[in-house]
Amino acid sequence: MKNLNRRDFLKTAALGAAAATLGTKSAKASEKLLSEDRLGVLVDTSVCVGCRHCEWACRLAHNMPSPALDYYSNPTVLKEFRRPDKTALTVVNEFENDKNPNLPIHVKIQCMHCDHPACVSACIVGALTKNEDGSVVWDDGKCIGCRYCMVACQFQIPTYDYDVSIDPHIRKCDFCTERRKEGQLPACVNICPNEALVFGKRSEILRIAKNRTKRKPDIYINHIYGESEIGGTSWVYIAGKDFNELKMPPLGKNPAPGISEAIQHGIFAYFVPPVTLYALLGTIMWVTKRRNESADKDKHDHHSDSHDHHSDSGRDPYRTSGHNTYRDSGHNTYRDSGLSTDKDTKGDNL
Ligand code: SF4
Ligand code: SF4
Ligand code: SF4
Repeated sequence: MKNLNRRDFLKTAALGAAAATLGTKSAKASEKLLSEDRLGVLVDTSVCVGCRHCEWACRLAHNMPSPALDYYSNPTVLKEFRRPDKTALTVVNEFENDKNPNLPIHVKIQCMHCDHPACVSACIVGALTKNEDGSVVWDDGKCIGCRYCMVACQFQIPTYDYDVSIDPHIRKCDFCTERRKEGQLPACVNICPNEALVFGKRSEILRIAKNRTKRKPDIYINHIYGESEIGGTSWVYIAGKDFNELKMPPLGKNPAPGISEAIQHGIFAYFVPPVTLYALLGTIMWVTKRRNESADKDKHDHHSDSHDHHSDSGRDPYRTSGHNTYRDSGHNTYRDSGLSTDKDTKGDNL
């Protein structure tokens, strides 16, 4: 039998589990149909080097405009704390490392694919769904742009196309559902040169996380973020620093749909008539439209004013890089080229 290294083993096991769970019927979180085999990703912040290749791969996998890969090595971007937005479904932030100032801590953030997602509870038209495989996905066709999911999410993840007047959308990480259906890893996991992201069954990545934190207490604090926060998340984190200091919100163990269920219960429990609901949503959409028109106008004015400046600057950081060949471009070769880093501890601590 062919020998598998640990990475191949995890990959094979994970893809097998993915094949087994994808395509099964989806279930609302509130129906508690969480599969024992649901998937997740372990983010090991002590291994992440902040290369931001995951940001690049994520954009390309979702046909989003992206600068060329070399743009992502610009360290000044890491000076400011960022959140995912409509241009990036995932971002990496940098934090000081008290134990070793020369090795800052990097934390990739994206949708956590909560086991009891408040965004799903909040959505009054069922545009967001928790799938048995652990992913939380949304349906553009159903979304009415009310943005309750944005209010409900404790991680401030869903973003909205504020500057798109016609057919704006909610956006967030979709756990690369389409790629996984084709037997591929999530793009960010696949590209990560340092194995900071481990994809697999949630139970398996938790086992790995526990093993690492137990074996290396000098590197990791004894806390797996996402193991139990708000009832558990599919993406879990380990780190050498308190998660509050890494801007991960301090959350209790209970699922907290909070405002989301209050919205739905308020509407349905108190028999708000549909006409009132539609009037409310109509008002939200009217206000949104007005805001969009105003934003468009401001943008247009600003663009006219600064047109010469942009022309002179010579660089549009969001130019389309033509990397749409990514999926077919043999990027495994790239991944296997082995970026050497100061933090290269990959594979030694499963
Ligand atoms: S992180 Fe936010 S958007 Fe993602 S599943 Fe949880 S509640 Fe929903
Ligand atoms: S799983 Fe896919 S959509 Fe989510 S952050 Fe990674 S590449 Fe982006
Ligand atoms: S690709 Fe991997 S090492 Fe690079 S920033 Fe993303 S998670 Fe960190």
